[in-house]
Amino acid sequence: MNYNNKANEINKNFDSFDREHLWHPYTSTINPLPTYKVNRAEGCRIYLEDGTELIDGMSSWWCAVHGYNHPILNKAIEEQLKSMSHIMFGGFTHQPAIDLGKLLLNILPNEMEHIFYADSGSVAVEVAMKMTVQYQHSQGHNKKTNFVTIRSGYHGDTWNAMSVCDPITGMHSLFGTSLPIRFFAPSPISKFGKEWNPSDITPLEDIMEKHSQEIAGLILEPIVQGAGGMNFYHPQYLKEAYNLCKKHNIVIIFDEIATGFGRTGKLFAYEHAGIVPDIMCIGKALTGGYMTFSAVATNEKIANGISSASPGVFMHGPTFMGNPLACAVAKASIELLLASNWEEKVKNIEEQMKSELSEVSTLHNVADVRILGAIGVIEMKKDIDMAYLQNRFVEEGIWVRPFGKLVYIMPPFIITKEELNKLTSSLIKIIKELK
Ligand SMILES: *Cc1c(COP(=O)(O)O)cnc(C)c1O
Repeated sequence: MNYNNKANEINKNFDSFDREHLWHPYTSTINPLPTYKVNRAEGCRIYLEDGTELIDGMSSWWCAVHGYNHPILNKAIEEQLKSMSHIMFGGFTHQPAIDLGKLLLNILPNEMEHIFYADSGSVAVEVAMKMTVQYQHSQGHNKKTNFVTIRSGYHGDTWNAMSVCDPITGMHSLFGTSLPIRFFAPSPISKFGKEWNPSDITPLEDIMEKHSQEIAGLILEPIVQGAGGMNFYHPQYLKEAYNLCKKHNIVIIFDEIATGFGRTGKLFAYEHAGIVPDIMCIGKALTGGYMTFSAVATNEKIANGISSASPGVFMHGPTFMGNPLACAVAKASIELLLASNWEEKVKNIEEQMKSELSEVSTLHNVADVRILGAIGVIEMKKDIDMAYLQNRFVEEGIWVRPFGKLVYIMPPFIITKEELNKLTSSLIKIIKELK
């Protein structure tokens, strides 16, 4: 009998309407992976319909850094709701957008002067790529319209974002020639915290030397490649990439959608390298995981370039741009983060994961264990059975969602020592069961 069906029959957390009619991320309608029905979430705990309590190891995909149902974040939305939940950003502005903008300019690199609010991470990536092409156009570089990136990247699921995701493990081949063809350098080999190998940059250098006439921008996730493989690479790569971009007049974009807001131990991952990009995308933890929202920040050079050449405007404007509820909760979440001792919390999570997860590195089926900031990754030698593992995790009272060969945790920063210990010990127990 099919495992998924069996799980669906025996567990009352599964819902048949959901199973028959609702698509979930990357699932089949014929044989969907089981989904667990959540009633409530609070702090670091997720409560399923049958009362099962789970310790959250995912922060809902990098987002819920303060945990769930936070009174301060709730209040920020409730207060904003009393005056307006939304108003068009074309022709109007409002205090939440202004306050958030001021706060962002305070915490982003000094060079950042202009902010574009967008609806989601993928849209932020689209916006950043459009800014890049429009900027090159404004400088008379009409042939500079393509992009270069590195393998194992992940930048979202919309069309252009998809085109710069890893071409093999992403969805390139499936969409064939309907996706624009980008330039790909190999993912950096030099690991974070290990030695720098100068030849690491050579492939990117070669691509730029050869194709700089066509390349408008370089886009990458600084230091941590997230959903494309959870790799932590050497900061020197960013420095070298930056210099190459300057040499070849290529716009450099950092996608900090996953790495932003403290996750890697710095407020933003570019700080590990001290390199400031031309354009930065932020999202995910921006609203503390409350709602979808993102922002694209850029410097005077890009913004003025775009604005000083025909058509004199940046050609993008989402319906829900600058949504006041999102701005209000983002401001509250950032203030909460800055007022918390997040650096120490992330450091403590890192130390505890290092001491508690390292023991699995000797298991025969484990390829690597790596930890950076509040991200803990166990890379298996073979692809795991997601449905099976998911169910075992839930049975043990933890929420971890593996993919491919990767079993990883990135808990809310508010997780207690005891909760994190429960998370790591249950994880280890289940990994040890695997053949
Ligand atoms: C999640 C993610 C995105 C896409 O964000 P969505 O809000 O899912 O559209 C883009 N880039 C990176 C690095 C991400 O982790």
